Amino acid sequence: MNGTKISEFTDYRGTSAQITKFLESTALYVKLKLELPSVFETVRPEVLELRCPTCKADRPFRGEARIHPFTSDPNAIPYRNTSVSGVRHLRFACTGCEHEGYEYWVLVNYQEETWIQKVGQLPIWIPTISKEMESELGEDAELYKKALRNMNEGYGIGACAYLRRLIEKHINPLLQLLHDTKAEHGAKPEELRAIQEAIAAKDFTSKTRFAAEVTPASLIVEGHNPFQEIHERLSVGLHTLDEETANCYAQEIKEALEYIIRNLRKTHDERKAYAARIKEIRKLPVK
Ligand SMILES: [Zn+2]
Repeated sequence: MNGTKISEFTDYRGTSAQITKFLESTALYVKLKLELPSVFETVRPEVLELRCPTCKADRPFRGEARIHPFTSDPNAIPYRNTSVSGVRHLRFACTGCEHEGYEYWVLVNYQEETWIQKVGQLPIWIPTISKEMESELGEDAELYKKALRNMNEGYGIGACAYLRRLIEKHINPLLQLLHDTKAEHGAKPEELRAIQEAIAAKDFTSKTRFAAEVTPASLIVEGHNPFQEIHERLSVGLHTLDEETANCYAQEIKEALEYIIRNLRKTHDERKAYAARIKEIRKLPVK
């Protein structure tokens, strides 16, 4: 029994919120180090926001009521659960349809340091991405989900590879547009061929030859092309870093990448529309 921990621990609400987020969005076997009260059941989340396959929406899922930490009833806190490491089974039911449910098996560790880890989940854990990102990426959403899944399970090298693939795929439509515009303006065949080769190339280096020409100005930060810088770091992550450091790189890059991909698509659509408009204008006689 660790008496000092009980008296020191005060942030029940904050810890419960941390565990809520952890259950909702973290994959299996990821450790969350956190301060825990002696009785885990006093910080067990009562409600999780989860996707319900029947309601087809995010819904509150209700679990068992947590034990009040300051209860005077000695029977409310089961002795066997006090500061004991082991697997807790948590169950949550959809408040919408009252049909669907989620179950978690969480290993709670009290030895030396306190941490929790999911060791089982039903239904299976799948990374969720925002609706906006999902429609933005289309079929590439799968690549992005795989990157997140790798990240969450600590496979940083894999995550870097998936993110890099994503960035490579999204530069190609812009290269194609550059090619078409140049072709219309009578560019030299060798110049056009170079762009075509860059589109077909598997390596990003040949694509970066044109990165400056296709990168929207809105993405340039202090004269640096973030597109290229991010790609370089993902490559380092993929080829030389250990899993853990690569994972830190991927986590950092992920959000910038969401912004970049949205911007590239927008730029592509705008430039395409602009090119079409110019074509129409050219049809108007000048005299
Ligand atoms: Zn439901």
